[in-house]
Amino acid sequence: MSGDDLLGQAHVRLDEAAQQLNVDHDVIEKLKYARETTQVRLMIRMDDGSRKSFLAWRCRYDDTRGPTKGGIRFHPDASVGEVEALAFWMTCKCAVMNLPYGGGKGAVQVDPRKLSKAELERLSRAYIQAFSRIIGPDRDIPAPDVYTNSMIMGWMADEYAQIVGQAVPAVITGKPIALGGSLGRGDATARGGYYLVRHLAENLGLGKSMRVAIQGFGNAGQHVARLLVADGHRIVAVSDSDGAVQSDVGLHVDMLIAAKEAGQPVASTIGQGGHQSLSAHELVGVDCDLLVPAALENMIDETNAGTVRAKLVLELANGPITPEGDTILARNGTVVLPDILANAGGVTVSYFEWVQNRQGFYWTLEEIHDRLRAIMEREGGAIWSISREKNITVRTAAYVHALSRLAEAIEAHGTQSFFMS
Ligand code: NAD
Repeated sequence: MSGDDLLGQAHVRLDEAAQQLNVDHDVIEKLKYARETTQVRLMIRMDDGSRKSFLAWRCRYDDTRGPTKGGIRFHPDASVGEVEALAFWMTCKCAVMNLPYGGGKGAVQVDPRKLSKAELERLSRAYIQAFSRIIGPDRDIPAPDVYTNSMIMGWMADEYAQIVGQAVPAVITGKPIALGGSLGRGDATARGGYYLVRHLAENLGLGKSMRVAIQGFGNAGQHVARLLVADGHRIVAVSDSDGAVQSDVGLHVDMLIAAKEAGQPVASTIGQGGHQSLSAHELVGVDCDLLVPAALENMIDETNAGTVRAKLVLELANGPITPEGDTILARNGTVVLPDILANAGGVTVSYFEWVQNRQGFYWTLEEIHDRLRAIMEREGGAIWSISREKNITVRTAAYVHALSRLAEAIEAHGTQSFFMS
């Protein structure tokens, strides 16, 4: 599926929400298009002395509610359409959580696994050189996303400081702790999703010991596995881009994490500790109570949604279910806790990092967890109530929640504002 289709899909959700609210046509018109998307070609020196170029983008989708916020993805399939769709989701996500931000996103079309560490650092610095006039602590604030991490954010923060001649830690979040990163950012996305499931457990009729399948075993997937196991649940299947493993009695999460840290796929643990082989495409149909997509977009569509046996899906990935997949899941009675709510713990702790950087006063891990839990429960509870009152899916309810806040802000700017031009 192309990136353009992805943005089209995102708009389906916006239209569904608009039908539930009496919003002005101008509001929808404004939210249908990215405010600005910049494309550049980054040229870097490779270790062998040759030069290589990479396409890169930064999109500031909508800044009505504040500076734009969103991660930078390094992926060989990155495209402008994907970047804009992800930036649109960030706009909605920040509104869902009531964070004082608009939505943005960035990407480089590259397979970072094919670069040396020195090449990766040169590419990360080149990205900031190209976009230093677009980003800024009050304008556009990047963060990590797929195949980028705190080490890369550290290089980027350093490059920005060199360009502007002073340390500006609030220009980027997800930094190493040593450079002003926040405690609790590492597992924030997974932890937010975990707090949400715990808070809604009674409403959802969840048992104390759930069988869980996780698609994608990177930052989000590994941390949610750890948190759920510590809470008495069983991880019965896990996949990554190279394969999958399953165990009816529960996978050894520490063994899986150790394999990933050693650069091995999850399938390298097959044969150890009762881990059995599973094909990656069978993962979504595994017999479980909770399915956690934590990889990429469009993993559950009309071809495989009918195989899902879980009664609950927690979307830690962005856009893992297509609208057609959604329809099938809803018809089969599967509840989906949607991305713009379920994985919003990451941007929420990024916001905490930005607040701490600006005030120069840092919070304890306990304070971070308490604040994150309070926001997930407040917004998750409000969205759950909207979905019950209006008899709509939790996804549409989340968009209704976001859209009403966005509409209020767009209208408050006034009709002559550049925001409405
Ligand atoms: P990551 O790079 O750490 O991990 C991605 C994982 O997905 C890897 O294990 C990779 O092997 C796996 N994967 C890739 N293709 C796959 C496939 N076809 N089948 C199964 N697994 C596959 O990335 P992450 O930070 O964990 O992000 C995962 C998802 O969560 C993305 O959609 C991202 O946008 C979303 N997300 C992440 C954060 C965050 O803070 N990290 C915040 C919000 C949303």
